[in-house]
Amino acid sequence: MMARTQDVVVVGAGFSGIVAARDLAERGHSVVILEGGTRVGGRTYARTFKGQEHLTVELGGSWISRALQPNIRREIARYGVQVKTDVPAENAAFITDGIRRPFPVPMSELPDLERAFMRLRDASRRIAPSQPLSQQPLNDLDISVEAFIHGMDLGPATTDLFYALIAWYSGADPRAVSVFGAIAQTAGFGHSPVGFYTGLSERFVGGAGVLLEKMIDTSGLEVRLDHLVTQVHQNDHGVTVRTKSGEVIHAKACVMAIPTNVLRQVEFSPQLGPRKVELLAEDHLGRAYKGSFLVRNIPRRSFTLGSGRLHSLILGYECEDGSCVMVAFGDDKSLSDPLSREEAEVAVREYFPDAEVLAVDAHDWCADPLFRGGYRVDPPGQALEFVRVMNTPDGRVVFAGTDLDDSVWRNWIDGAINSGRAAADKISETLSHMRSTS
Ligand SMILES: Cc1cc2nc3c(=O)[nH]c(=O)nc-3n(C[C@H](O)[C@H](O)[C@H](O)COP(=O)(O)OP(=O)(O)OC[C@H]3O[C@@H](n4cnc5c(N)ncnc54)[C@H](O)[C@@H]3O)c2cc1C
Repeated sequence: MMARTQDVVVVGAGFSGIVAARDLAERGHSVVILEGGTRVGGRTYARTFKGQEHLTVELGGSWISRALQPNIRREIARYGVQVKTDVPAENAAFITDGIRRPFPVPMSELPDLERAFMRLRDASRRIAPSQPLSQQPLNDLDISVEAFIHGMDLGPATTDLFYALIAWYSGADPRAVSVFGAIAQTAGFGHSPVGFYTGLSERFVGGAGVLLEKMIDTSGLEVRLDHLVTQVHQNDHGVTVRTKSGEVIHAKACVMAIPTNVLRQVEFSPQLGPRKVELLAEDHLGRAYKGSFLVRNIPRRSFTLGSGRLHSLILGYECEDGSCVMVAFGDDKSLSDPLSREEAEVAVREYFPDAEVLAVDAHDWCADPLFRGGYRVDPPGQALEFVRVMNTPDGRVVFAGTDLDDSVWRNWIDGAINSGRAAADKISETLSHMRSTS
C-alpha cells in the first residue's frame, strides 16, 4: 500500500478525536482521522429502536447540561444545534434494604440520609471544578466507598441507597470502585449530591451525532471509516500508523483517542512508558449496561433508584398510546442477555410489579471489541494516578478521550471534548517545538 503523509493522524472518531482533529485543522495542520468502526460517534450512538421503527434510541451518551458543562455550552452555541429538556419525574420507586418504597429511606433514617449527602457535598467542596483535578491535592479522596462512609453508622436503607447511587453512576460493583469519581461528579453538579438526579436534564435533538456531523462538515474533516489501527511506530522523524488492512499513514504526530480498555490491543514501538503499560494491562471496572425498554402499566413519568437488578430507570420518551421508553441503567450482571425482554420485565417489576415490557433494545458496550466496557471506573488509589500518567505524552504520541480527562466531567461527553481540546494544544506545542528546532 502507498504511504501517505499528514501533519497529524487522529485515531478514533468519538467526540475527543473529532474535537482534537477540528482544533488542529483550524490551526492550519493537515489531519486525517482513522476510525476502526463503520460509523462516527463512538460511545454516542443514536438509531432506530430495533423492531419499533417509530422510535429512536440513544444507546450511549445522551444527557447533557448547558448550565453545568462548559464545553457542551460552547460547542452548542457555536454550531447552533437543538437541545430538548426532559420533563421532570412525577412518580418514584426505590429499593433499599430489600424493600420497595416511594421514598428512598424510612423516616427514621432521614438524619442518616442528610449526613451521607452532607459528607459527599463537603468532600466535593474541596474540588475546584474549573481546575484540572490532577493538579489539586485530592489523593486522600481516592478511596473505597466503605472507607468514605466508615464510622458514620448509617442505617441499612441509607447505606444501601449510597451504594446504589455509586453503582448507578459507575455501572460497576460499588464495593470495588474508588469513591473519587462520585465526589468529583458532585462538584460538577454545583456541589449538589441531588445533582445525580437533577443535574443533566437536556439531550440533543436527533442525538449527539448531530453536533459531531456539524463539526466534521464545517471543518471539512477527513474521516476514514473501517480503519482499525493495530500499530503505532515513532522515531525522530515522525509517526507511522498501520491499519489492520495494511494501510500505512505517516504523520509528524499522533493523537490516540480510543477507549483505554482497547489501547493494549495496539502495538506501540517503542513501547509506552512502564506505568502506562501496567495501568492499561487490565480492564477497568466500568461494566455499564444501558437498555431502552418499551414499557406499559407503570406510573406516569417515573424514576427509580435502588439495589434491584437494575440500578435505575429514567424516562426516555412518552408515547401517545400511554406506553413509554424507560432507559434502564445497570451493569453486565443486571441481565444475562442484554436484549432479553423477559429478563427486562422481571427486573422492571422489582420496582413496578404491574409493568409489562413490550420490547428491548441495547448495545453491548462490554462485548463490542472497539470498546470493551462502558465509561471508565478505577479502583481506589488509581482514579487520579491514571489521569496523570495517561496525560503525559509519549514523544509524538498524545492520548485523548473521556477515560483520561482531567476534569469533573471525566466520563461524559463534556470530558471527551475537554480532552480532545487538551490533546490538540499538546500536539500544537509539539509541532511548533519541532519547527523551531529543525
Ligand atoms: C451506556 C453509556 C451511557 C452514557 N451516557 C452518557 C450521558 O448520558 N451523557 C454523557 O455526557 N455521556 C454519557 N456517556 C459517556 C459518553 O458517551 C462518552 O464520554 C463519550 O462519548 C466518549 O468519547 P471518546 O471520544 O472519549 O471515546 P469514544 O466515543 O469511545 O470514541 C473512541 C473511538 O475509537 C474507535 N476505536 C477503538 N479502537 C480503535 C482502533 N484500534 N483504531 C481506530 N479506531 C478505534 C471506536 O470505534 C470509537 O469510535 C455514556 C457512555 C455509555 C457507554
